[in-house]
Amino acid sequence: MIPLSRPTIGKEEISSVVEVLKSGILSLGPKLEEFEKDFSRLIGVKYAIAVNSGTSGLHLALKSLGIKEGDEVITTPFSFVASANCALFENAKPVFVDVEEDTFNIDPDLIKEKIADKTKFILPVHVFGQTCDMDPILKTAKKNNLKVVEDACESIMATYKGKKSGTMGEVGVFAFYPNKQMTTAEGGMIVTNNEKAGILCKSYRNQGRSDNKQWLTHPRIGYNYRMDEINAAIGIEQIKKLPGFIKKRRALAKLYIEQLNDIDGITLPKIKEGNEHSWFVFPIIVNERARNELISKLNSIGVQSKAYFDPCIHLQPFYREKYGYNEGDFPVAEKLSKTIVILPFYEQMKEEHIHIVVNSLKTALRRLK
Ligand SMILES: *Cc1c(COP(=O)(O)O)cnc(C)c1O
Repeated sequence: MIPLSRPTIGKEEISSVVEVLKSGILSLGPKLEEFEKDFSRLIGVKYAIAVNSGTSGLHLALKSLGIKEGDEVITTPFSFVASANCALFENAKPVFVDVEEDTFNIDPDLIKEKIADKTKFILPVHVFGQTCDMDPILKTAKKNNLKVVEDACESIMATYKGKKSGTMGEVGVFAFYPNKQMTTAEGGMIVTNNEKAGILCKSYRNQGRSDNKQWLTHPRIGYNYRMDEINAAIGIEQIKKLPGFIKKRRALAKLYIEQLNDIDGITLPKIKEGNEHSWFVFPIIVNERARNELISKLNSIGVQSKAYFDPCIHLQPFYREKYGYNEGDFPVAEKLSKTIVILPFYEQMKEEHIHIVVNSLKTALRRLK
């Protein structure tokens, strides 16, 4: 069986976790501080605030920038559901904009049409590890006085014209779920150069406390979105390995691209000029009618694969019910959600695994014809 994804955990993570368990300090200790310091250095930002998930990070990013009930947040329907839910948490409204067919990312040209009086945020998602076309997005945001929160949960270490994903908007958010490029088991990180937002995120994640050690004084309502010492210890070790992970992922993607290049019925992902991809997953596009059968054929011969993201966010049951969305509302995103397959992709993959996946794919496609 070749799995879709698999975290790379070594003896360093294991001994570091054991050290934490023996130390007696399991939360709000030195590992959290060290992880945040290392992360802010890695990304090149003033403030890095670790939280218990990427979803919590997105929620606090919007909250720290003053999101209010009724505000509109422009985002993409082709993403993981948390990208839009974070607006709903604050009774704000996600407003969807269709995506570019070649990068799967929000289409900057279509954003302008959706800007209204209530629009306060643009929340671009760098899908699958490739950054959005940020220059026009930032320009539109500036012109209309909107704040940009980057969902960089799938794009750690990706760059856009030399700039790191997560650092181009007002606030950026990363996620460390086990299938991401680096993991803390569960976890996330908020990054910003905005002091006020940084301080607020730190307070909100810890029950609205301030930094003055007054444990039972809560200047504002907050949450328990803390990352514990065990997760932070894993994160510290993963950061050290991250450049190697990304290098390996780029090499594996290159192998897939070389070997799938001339196969009829497969469209390969495109990398836009100026972008350095960090490959959260490896997606291919196949014929809509064959897609689901292809996935079950691959799974039956021991090669895991998956439809991604199907359904789109606007077609999730509670979005349909709340806003009345239907098929056809965002045709490009919907088409992608019906034709994309993601293939096995993780650092320990060897060239022979890629061969097995490619050959299985060829066999499955042949049988479908
Ligand atoms: C993984 C991910 C998140 C956050 O996920 P968590 O499971 O909450 O850490 C948010 N947005 C996108 C696009 C993601 O892929």
